[in-house]
Amino acid sequence: MSLKLEKRLAERRAQDLWRERRVLDGPQTVEAIVDGRHCLSFCSNDYLGLASDARVTAALRDGAALYGVGSGASHLVNGHSRAHAELEEALAAWTGRERALLFSTGYMANLGVISALAARGDHIYADRLDHASLLDGALLSGARLRRYRHRDHAQLAEWLERTPATGERFIISDGVFSMDGDLAPLPELTALAAQHDACLIIDDAHGLGVIGPSGGGTIAHFACEQKDVPVLIGTLGKAFGTFGAFVAGESDLIETLIQFARSYIYTTALPPAVAHATLTALKIAREETWRRDHLAALIARFRTGARELDLSLLDLPADNPATPIIALLTGNAERALKLSKNLLERGLLVPAIRPPTVEQGSARLRITLSAAHSEAQVDRLLNALAELC
Ligand SMILES: *Cc1c(COP(=O)(O)O)cnc(C)c1O
Repeated sequence: MSLKLEKRLAERRAQDLWRERRVLDGPQTVEAIVDGRHCLSFCSNDYLGLASDARVTAALRDGAALYGVGSGASHLVNGHSRAHAELEEALAAWTGRERALLFSTGYMANLGVISALAARGDHIYADRLDHASLLDGALLSGARLRRYRHRDHAQLAEWLERTPATGERFIISDGVFSMDGDLAPLPELTALAAQHDACLIIDDAHGLGVIGPSGGGTIAHFACEQKDVPVLIGTLGKAFGTFGAFVAGESDLIETLIQFARSYIYTTALPPAVAHATLTALKIAREETWRRDHLAALIARFRTGARELDLSLLDLPADNPATPIIALLTGNAERALKLSKNLLERGLLVPAIRPPTVEQGSARLRITLSAAHSEAQVDRLLNALAELC
């Protein structure tokens, strides 16, 4: 039997939605070799510049010497090493929560958490711009899923008022939204959760390490506590520069996940050397405040420069702190692709983000800044945009 895939692929191409991969030589840094050519990159989530940090790399090497390469089994069989245990303790201490549980990826954490906590008959409310993995987790759970307009807590409040009395309620949101760079309205969400006896789940993949005091993320920025946001999800492959993810909360939450989260139970534990390296990354992220300060200065420089050029940046709510995710709206996918291509010709790597990753009509360039960038590099991007836009 033939797979009959040509038509679907041809449609994808015709809609300017074709996705393709580039090959990176060498480490993930801002000056990257992409498809064989040197370019300056503005697209990774390595916000603190730790993915190729010499100390984190050395810790990975030490971890390999101590633990070898593979974990060999799932956490519940015999893959749970000392390095995993130490990292879980460090993450719990850092987030100020009773316990933390490592997952192999953020995608798997979200599938596991939501499907372990929610079930048929329950009600999930999710921001329309939540990460795909949160939506997939909600669908997998079998609960009734409704997606409120982005950051629209008034609509959420209305829906919560009308929720039937039966079943548990969950409010699920990104902390920092991955494509827009704005923050969830946490004070309003925590108030609604308390008022309607709902459990608030926050995925702070882009906030942890980057915003808030000591990089404590969205929850720290708004000075919320474990009781306000019982379930915190974080990823380790972004600001911490390594790989993996975790969930932090009260002890019973962690025990429940160990018992029931299928994406935790039925998968090989991440390599212990990676957990060992992440301990070093976490320490650097917490202590080297200059990384966040420098990043904030770069964000301000870029936003000011872009305003002077009259570029169509997506505005952030006035009370949001600066985040390193900056959306330059182009409207249609074709324009986004063309601008991205023209920038690449000038040696600047900035990806075009198109539907279905973002909503129809909101294609964009997603510019991300890193503490590894210099002011001169930010200026190079501004100069190129001045010529092209
Ligand atoms: C990247 C991301 C994830 C997935 O994390 P991985 O570790 O890359 O699987 C989950 N949620 C959000 C909001 C993300 O941005």
